[in-house]
Amino acid sequence: MPIRLLAPEVSSKIAAGEVVERPASVVKELVENSVDAGATRISVDIEGGGVEHMRVSDNGCGVPFDELELAFQRFATSKITDSGDLDAIATLGFRGEALPSIAAVASVTLVSRSRGEESGARLDIVEGVTGKKERQGASQGTTVSVRQLFRNVPARRKFLRSLATETSRINTLVTRYAMAYPEIAFELSVDGRRGFSSSGSGDLREVAAAVYKLQTAEAMIELAPGGMGVEGEPSVGGLIGPPSHDRANRSCVSFFVNRRWVQNRVLGFAVEQAYHGFMKERRYPIAVIDIKLPLGDVDVNFHPGKAEVRFRAESAVFSAVQRTVREAVTLHSPVPEVSHASISRPHSGPASTGPVFWPVEPFKSEHSAASLTAPSTTPALQPKKALPALRVLGQVQSAYVAAEGPDGMYLIDQHAAHERVVFERVMSEARERAPQVQSLLEPALVELGPEHRELIREQGELIAGLGMVVEPFGDGTYLLRGVPALLAGGDPAQALTDVLDTLADGGGFESWDERAAYSIACHGAIRAGMTLSLDEMTELARQLEECREPNTCPHGRPTMIHLSSSHLEREFGRT
Ligand code: ADP
Ligand code: MG
Repeated sequence: MPIRLLAPEVSSKIAAGEVVERPASVVKELVENSVDAGATRISVDIEGGGVEHMRVSDNGCGVPFDELELAFQRFATSKITDSGDLDAIATLGFRGEALPSIAAVASVTLVSRSRGEESGARLDIVEGVTGKKERQGASQGTTVSVRQLFRNVPARRKFLRSLATETSRINTLVTRYAMAYPEIAFELSVDGRRGFSSSGSGDLREVAAAVYKLQTAEAMIELAPGGMGVEGEPSVGGLIGPPSHDRANRSCVSFFVNRRWVQNRVLGFAVEQAYHGFMKERRYPIAVIDIKLPLGDVDVNFHPGKAEVRFRAESAVFSAVQRTVREAVTLHSPVPEVSHASISRPHSGPASTGPVFWPVEPFKSEHSAASLTAPSTTPALQPKKALPALRVLGQVQSAYVAAEGPDGMYLIDQHAAHERVVFERVMSEARERAPQVQSLLEPALVELGPEHRELIREQGELIAGLGMVVEPFGDGTYLLRGVPALLAGGDPAQALTDVLDTLADGGGFESWDERAAYSIACHGAIRAGMTLSLDEMTELARQLEECREPNTCPHGRPTMIHLSSSHLEREFGRT
């Protein structure tokens, strides 16, 4: 279909908005155009986090010579014509907004040769000015190069996260599209180095092996896609990881709705529910979930970035996802694990001396899962909002520590409190450049996905500063020789991937130092559900007293609640 301007009554119905927020959004729009063009090969090259340069090349149908300029006009599209088409959108793009929006904030060059044309052509748009198009040799397909993104929008440029974060977002994006379209060969190169690639063989498991790791992909369970037998019934296919391959965050759960990568909290919740009882608390699965629905049952014209969709019958989609995943998980895990403590307690007998979780010296207790030393008590670390000395009374619901203070009673959230303690400890070790490392007797060989490899390349120093001793070993594998002492005792490879996951995700923190500290705190802090001895609870209270900001966890949630004497008296009607 030729590119045409949409009639105003159609364009006015389009959920217009900012589509170019960051480099990854440019790559998303360009890759979607390549997919819509029927490409079987798409390569993405980026430099300098994409801000400097991004190039997406495909072997798709190409843009006809006569339509090159039109492609850059707002609401010019070859994909829909009238507003009825908006009800059943079969292509990834449809608004005719992406190319003009990109050209408004960057310099763009489009080289294309359309099917059946003898030569290619090139059109440059520099700082919003469209140049003259010229004939140029090219193979069939389209290459769009984007340079100097946001040079004319300094405010936006300022808000971009570090280049490593932008690179990692682009990497995520390309890998997600590769999983949505296993029949397309994708290739990503970052600063001239070849990164992720997929073969285009059509085998989702093969793509999953390139995205995660071979061992994970081999263990993944195939969802038997229930066809759209009953009209309007969603079909749910894809691959899900076994509960044993759990992750620290939700970043490995991806959804595709009619092959569009979407974010949807409700669907995420459906998957988490399906794993409930099979997976430890606050752990998340790996899942690639492919949902197919009649086009009319999903509204993609809802979010400007098209990253969120609306379902006509959300609850039907929710239960289809939940049921299909649950069935697959149950079938493959005959003995559900109903453990609630997510860090196994070290088996030091009752006769062992002193608290096991907070030994005075870091290396004494060899296998305590969350072994911790007290934060150093340099004057700088004196509490700001001093806590009174607390007398621990006992534990409530394996989650809270009840204590008595000079003015009433305190209930401490053991996880939040320990997160605060570990967080401050890592921040202070990092400041002093003295991470406590637990060397591994036997180095662990860890295979890492491209996102994690990129992160190690970009943030190697930071990661080493945490006490993760990692060496490249070739072919996407790494030798892990040591882990932060704070995480000693657990599975070292798991600790590394968890920490990398949290680092990449940010955990809500902007600065890399805080992200780093949080990644250790998140993985290493004792959990709710863990029974603590009186000594351990007393030690926790003491360490909390020494924190600078003892009253909140790193995310600002309270570590404790206080029931003052006067409050108690009031409640009991004694005053
Ligand atoms: P939309 O994708 O919403 O139609 P875009 O601004 O992204 O809008 O693209 C405008 C038009 O340019 C598309 O409709 C398509 O005809 C053409 N086009 C863009 N990229 C490509 C490509 N890689 N291959 C072929 N045609 C393309
Ligand atoms: Mg488009």
